[in-house]
Amino acid sequence: MSNQVLPVSEPAPAPEISVVIPVFNEEENLRELGERLIRTLTAMGRPYEIIFVDDGSTDGSWELLTDLNRQYPQNIRALQFHRNFGQHQAIFAGFQASRGQVMVTLDADLQNPPEEIPRLVAKLDEGFDTVGGWRENRQDSIFRRLPSQLVNTVMSRVTGVKLRDYGCMLRAYRRSVVDSINQCQESSSFIPALANLFAQRVAEIPVGHAERERGKSKYGIIKLLRLNFDLMTGFSNLPIHLVGFMGVAIACLGLLFGFMLLLRRIFVGPEVEGVFTLFAILFVFVGLNTLGLALIGEYVGRIYREVRGRPRFVVRQTLGPES
Ligand code: UDP
Ligand code: MG
Repeated sequence: MSNQVLPVSEPAPAPEISVVIPVFNEEENLRELGERLIRTLTAMGRPYEIIFVDDGSTDGSWELLTDLNRQYPQNIRALQFHRNFGQHQAIFAGFQASRGQVMVTLDADLQNPPEEIPRLVAKLDEGFDTVGGWRENRQDSIFRRLPSQLVNTVMSRVTGVKLRDYGCMLRAYRRSVVDSINQCQESSSFIPALANLFAQRVAEIPVGHAERERGKSKYGIIKLLRLNFDLMTGFSNLPIHLVGFMGVAIACLGLLFGFMLLLRRIFVGPEVEGVFTLFAILFVFVGLNTLGLALIGEYVGRIYREVRGRPRFVVRQTLGPES
């Protein structure tokens, strides 16, 4: 034994795993969630931190989080927004505060079982950059599942990353991916899709899904529509392309109609006072108008993309001396 003075308390080891959880009025679920998380993560035997982000809750959530932090000061941290900024902004904030090499996100309502975390992390350790869960046995109503299916198909197309479940928030990310996400300054975004832009190897594994037992869903129909609209407009110009396509289609139909009327005039004679000819001309113009609108939309879309200021590229490795 050396007679060096030992520090009074060992500094906690730097966390390896950071779990980020958005919380909006979930007081009924937090205690059970905290306990199940602590049990699962302790069993994994790697240093971890749990970061709760209170997204402007108006119930007792913050007091419960304060309690949890007092009980497990080394492992549980909490941030509080002063108002409701939305689930994805809460995750952004959690990512910015996180210190681990592996980030895991999940919902606070116990619909995503915390016990699935070791499987996600194990998959990540196989060399993937992000691992998503897909809800094998999704316990939501058909009105929630059908639109999700549409979104999954469209998003898989427009981002070029085929995922079965873009909406599942039980996911794991490598530090490098989260660092890139942290550079994005956009105020409306969708984290799983954003992560796909920065991840090279993406995996998906089936995870369990439970019904929401306590509290109710924070997504009403309007909020859900807005989230999906953010997702579409944030990651593609697909909506405006559809308008452009419609414009071209209307104009073409108008031309075809005009051509038919011309043939009719030659072989049968003119139709009632040329009214339909006028319609044909009108259709062509309406179509061109719509196309014009879509072109303007396309430019606005591009301006929007610039304004978002996402990192335009991510350098994975450099050889030779780095600056
Ligand atoms: N949430 C949030 N801010 C919001 C809406 C939701 O932080 O504005 C959190 C909520 O507390 C939960 C997660 O996001 O942890 C998912 O929300 P919810 O379970 O209501 O969505 P659903 O499962 O119905 O899609
Ligand atoms: Mg839920």
